[in-house]
Amino acid sequence: MINCIFCKIVKGEANSWKIYETEDAYAFLDINPANRYHTLVIPKKHYTNIFDIPEKELSAVTTVVKKVCKLYEEKLGISNIQIISNSGAEAQQEVFHLHFHILPRKRGDGQNLRWITHPEWVQDFDRMIEKLK
Ligand code: AMP
Ligand code: ZN
Repeated sequence: MINCIFCKIVKGEANSWKIYETEDAYAFLDINPANRYHTLVIPKKHYTNIFDIPEKELSAVTTVVKKVCKLYEEKLGISNIQIISNSGAEAQQEVFHLHFHILPRKRGDGQNLRWITHPEWVQDFDRMIEKLK
């Protein structure tokens, strides 16, 4: 995909700090890290997000997510990680080439990913599930 920064990274046309790669997936450090070792894992082929990537290719990406988490556990003693993937502009996706964030966490790191929750919506659950039939 022309003008996709992550495609450029895969092709070596833009700089990146590689952590790990396979034939199908590439892991590299996020240029704007929220914590040390904040990492992105992407498919080498261009897919926009969760909606268009085929299952097999997604599986190749999540295999690398797991591999990098284990690498950080073994080499750095990291045992707290958030894995985040945004699909769609309204879901805070900014780069439209599918990616998983691997965000190592530790107590007192100053990060706080908290949702505003709506426990009163439990009363709608049956109707919500009905819509899927
Ligand atoms: P998202 O909001 O999930 O689409 O996040 C996109 C992420 O890509 C952000 O955390 C950016 O810091 C990161 N990013 C954008 N350009 C680059 C780049 N050239 N190298 C590494 N990370 C990048
Ligand atoms: Zn791309």
